[in-house]
Amino acid sequence: MPGLINTHTHASMTVFRSLADDVPDRLHRYIFPLESKMVSREMVRIGANLANIEMIKGGVTTYVDMYYFEDEVAKTVDKIGLRAVLGESVIKFPVADAKNADEGIEYAVNFINQYKNHPRITPAFAPHAPYTNSTEHLQKIAKLSQELNVPVMIHLAETDREQEEIAKRTGGKSPVQYMADIGALNNKVIAAHAIMVDEKDMDLLKQYDVGVAHNISANTKSAKGVAPVTTMLEKGIRVGLGTDGPMSSNTLTTLNELNLVGKIHKLENKDRAAMPPITVVEMATMGSARALHMEDKLGSLEEGKLADIIVIDTKSPNMVPMYSPYAALVYGANGSNVRHTIVDGKLLMKDRQLLTANEGSIIAEAQDFANQVRKTVIASGEVVK
Ligand SMILES: [Zn+2]
Repeated sequence: MPGLINTHTHASMTVFRSLADDVPDRLHRYIFPLESKMVSREMVRIGANLANIEMIKGGVTTYVDMYYFEDEVAKTVDKIGLRAVLGESVIKFPVADAKNADEGIEYAVNFINQYKNHPRITPAFAPHAPYTNSTEHLQKIAKLSQELNVPVMIHLAETDREQEEIAKRTGGKSPVQYMADIGALNNKVIAAHAIMVDEKDMDLLKQYDVGVAHNISANTKSAKGVAPVTTMLEKGIRVGLGTDGPMSSNTLTTLNELNLVGKIHKLENKDRAAMPPITVVEMATMGSARALHMEDKLGSLEEGKLADIIVIDTKSPNMVPMYSPYAALVYGANGSNVRHTIVDGKLLMKDRQLLTANEGSIIAEAQDFANQVRKTVIASGEVVK
């Protein structure tokens, strides 16, 4: 089948996986303070390496990343042979690789210029969210993304705090309406989450041809809500599937998400026939390619498209018998059923053995980093206030 496309993650955060999973208001109370202490060029490299091998083993052939030091993520992607859209974060407060949003934009432009001709890497801007950036910076990124012809990834319509702060900034507008009104919505934008959207917001997403990354595990685990994806699909919006970061979901292969996507939307619609398996599989492949505006190259096995292919083991006990391949994939499969992974015509995993990376040394390095986390932020208890 076509390789899976993970339309939203923060790969390097694998080194923080299973930390403080259920802290309320976790992004502001835990993750931002943790990142201000622990994010470094080295951490980004170690975490990205771990994420890359996890995704290859789970059948992800293209992923979309938003983080810091994306040039470091790019080096790991280049080396291991994956395909990726890598967005350098822009945020208004000081972070590890920029003192403010202007420096973040400058970092992103340098990164984009460095990687714009890479055959497997699409460099991009990643403004964190509307409420963590100013109107001026969001407009500047929109303009630069047109000039440089690169994507813009952003968390959009995700949280109560975002809605409140944007309403305050605009006299009551929704985040999607605000983005449209400031000229920051267009076909370069990939919006992660889009949970808190009404009919009008969805019409704007369609009108501006925005891609949406649906992250069901992260959204249910954080209790933020269920994005109205069945309505989005009816409206013809480009919806793909993502995992969100490994502190949120907590695994990185979208194959593990299919089950929940199918079931939660049935429950949400109180309709057993809603979100059938073929629709879920399409969301993980062609839908995700469409969300990235890359459907001419990715998402299906067709002549003329790039050779990103995975082979699923149909003889694993949990896959036998297979009357319907779509139902088997959605209700029965998991990442460990992927047997071979091919990107750009090159085998990256054969019979579950990685061919372009040393799994043991990558895991050992991640465990060493976790020991530093244990000795510092965990031992001192200094992160959660
Ligand atoms: Zn995210």
